[in-house]
Amino acid sequence: MWQFNFPGTVESFFLPVLSIPFYSYLYYNPAMKNEETFKIKLGISSCLLGQQVRYDGGHKLDLYLRDVLGQTVEYVTVCPEVGMGLGTPRETIRLKGDPLKPKLVNSGTGIDHTDKMSAWMTMKLDLLAEQNLSGFIFKSQSPSCGKKDIKVYDNDGRFGLTGTGVFARAVMVRFPGLPVEEESRLQDSSSIEDFMKRVISYHRRHYT
Ligand code: SF4
Repeated sequence: MWQFNFPGTVESFFLPVLSIPFYSYLYYNPAMKNEETFKIKLGISSCLLGQQVRYDGGHKLDLYLRDVLGQTVEYVTVCPEVGMGLGTPRETIRLKGDPLKPKLVNSGTGIDHTDKMSAWMTMKLDLLAEQNLSGFIFKSQSPSCGKKDIKVYDNDGRFGLTGTGVFARAVMVRFPGLPVEEESRLQDSSSIEDFMKRVISYHRRHYT
């Protein structure tokens, strides 16, 4: 016999955002044997949870993702730029060259991080494969984490084309079908609900 229990601390946040049927779907799963087996794991760009890993030493905390959605999922944080060895603060980096296979270079000095990032991602994606992720939330407008519309520069420093951040692309290639979204597209109830439905569907297909 299952019980429908609102987690009291977030009830006031959830109700305006998620429909009751959807909400009950989150908390009732016939396959659920205990809280631990049902916990859904999402990868997320570290700066969105307030970690001070950005090039300027700051973060991009998203309160909704941390304090509301974070009550129902378990996050696995990843900052590919710090992960591959860049410091904080650091020079900004950008995509350069072929939008389908861009290089990752420092914006000013032009130092090329492509090979180092590639080697780190190979290792990191193997580790993430062991985490049983059901989705990933990326920071938008990042040459590493952005899912789309990231500026790609040519050899003369001009940009006219756009592409995908190198880490976001690697995640999507390694885990085809994994629901992925940028935080900028999770700013209204219907978008959040749609994303979480895809996450739950993926979770049920793969892990229950
Ligand atoms: S956008 Fe990605 S690479 Fe940039 S600080 Fe956030 S987690 Fe790190």
